[in-house]
Amino acid sequence: MRTVYVNGDYLPESEGRVSIFDRGFLFADGVYEVTTVLDGKLVDFDGHAARLERSLRELDMPMPMTRDALLEVHHRLVAENDIDEGLVYLQVTRGAADRDFAYPAEETEQTVVLFTQAKPGLAKAPEKGLSVDLQPDLRWGRRDIKTVQLLYPSMAKMAAKRAGHDDAWMHEPGGTITEGTSNNAYIVKGNTIVTRQLGNEILHGITRAAVLRLAREAQMKVEERAFTVEEAQSADEAFVTSASTFVMPVTSIGGKAVGDGQPGRIAGRLREIYLDEARAKAL
Ligand code: PLP
Repeated sequence: MRTVYVNGDYLPESEGRVSIFDRGFLFADGVYEVTTVLDGKLVDFDGHAARLERSLRELDMPMPMTRDALLEVHHRLVAENDIDEGLVYLQVTRGAADRDFAYPAEETEQTVVLFTQAKPGLAKAPEKGLSVDLQPDLRWGRRDIKTVQLLYPSMAKMAAKRAGHDDAWMHEPGGTITEGTSNNAYIVKGNTIVTRQLGNEILHGITRAAVLRLAREAQMKVEERAFTVEEAQSADEAFVTSASTFVMPVTSIGGKAVGDGQPGRIAGRLREIYLDEARAKAL
């Protein structure tokens, strides 16, 4: 049985308890982070801690503990659960209060929960690329805040799976793609990597930031702009990034093969350099 962290306590997972009045439960009034573990170490912990602080600030919530205390909780859970490859999930909510749309007037005790998931083989080279479906982006307008309000991405992923795909890329009324259900989306045309610019419309991926920096350092051309479904379907390559998939090739978009239908060369190269750096700098 896993050991989980709940509000200061390390407990067997079956003993973790959160109030039925928790605003995370009642209003999705909470944010989360997922940090990958490779070789028993945390990948880009500081990037995730910084985004957590930003998400909380956007919702008028403080950080529940210092960066060092948070790192200590992550390390203890990784050690106690003997995680070599996997992830640490963290969720912070505004805590329990009598149900009301307004944030509670009195500061509530935040709920802080962390647990691990073992994922042996996480960093193995993918055998094939992903097939992504196209789904309308029906999420709210503050996708830059990493809230636990994930029902629409979950519905979109299920619709994609029912149609025989691995995942979905979501698109707006004008036909531009925002991102995947739980990853950032990229296409490659010639030697140019194109991905949606930062804004309220997408999550500011921690992996995205690292991959774009590494691509520029490797003299690849990067354009951060909106791209359309048509552009994506006529691209030479496509891929997604996220903490737990790193760089993952996409070989089919909305039923159309991308390029020659095989995982792309640039995606493969970026995965290698990303994983090299992730392992070298992990804490
Ligand atoms: N976009 C969305 C909607 C996500 O949910 C995620 C990760 O969960 C990402 C992008 C990728 O972000 P990161 O690289 O920080 O994992």
